[in-house]
Amino acid sequence: MRNVLKMEFSALAENEAFARAAAAAFVMPFDPTVEELTEIKTAVSEAVSNCVIHGYGVLCGEGNFAGNEVPTIVMECALEKGNRLTIKIEDKGVGIDDIDQAMEPLFTTGDDEERSGMGFTVMQSFMDRLKVRSVKGEGTTVIMTKYLDVPDGI
Ligand code: ATP
Ligand code: MG
Repeated sequence: MRNVLKMEFSALAENEAFARAAAAAFVMPFDPTVEELTEIKTAVSEAVSNCVIHGYGVLCGEGNFAGNEVPTIVMECALEKGNRLTIKIEDKGVGIDDIDQAMEPLFTTGDDEERSGMGFTVMQSFMDRLKVRSVKGEGTTVIMTKYLDVPDGI
């Protein structure tokens, strides 16, 4: 059985907490450990904040998206085979020039004072697998997989 959640929300910083909480609520029936929950929430936060800051940051600059024209982020969570959690987070923003370089610890194109370049590293260490697909000018998709430590499947 495949249990899924698909949601689309405005790419605004205030929705990061909502996305994180939604992912946590989705896995709740599968009795995750406190540690697993923290890891999932942190990984989702990092991916969503990247969409807001990097994916759409430039596009959302003053005057570009007036009123309700804020672009959106799509998050898809799926639980399969009893314990395999997949979380896909997608933006249609600026895309990434060099994915391998972007995934290196400490690499950032952001403001050095605010960004540490550790988002992808955090996602990688908290989840079991991280896949990043990106096309310049079209957007970025991050797919994270985690095998939950559940005794009985769904
Ligand atoms: P931190 O996450 O520590 O605040 P950071 O966001 O710069 O800093 P990462 O999350 O590891 O670090 O991302 C590394 C780089 O990859 C970013 O600086 C940015 O250039 C690029 N990047 C990441 N996600 C996206 C995205 N959704 N769209 C466009 N570029 C991205
Ligand atoms: Mg980041």
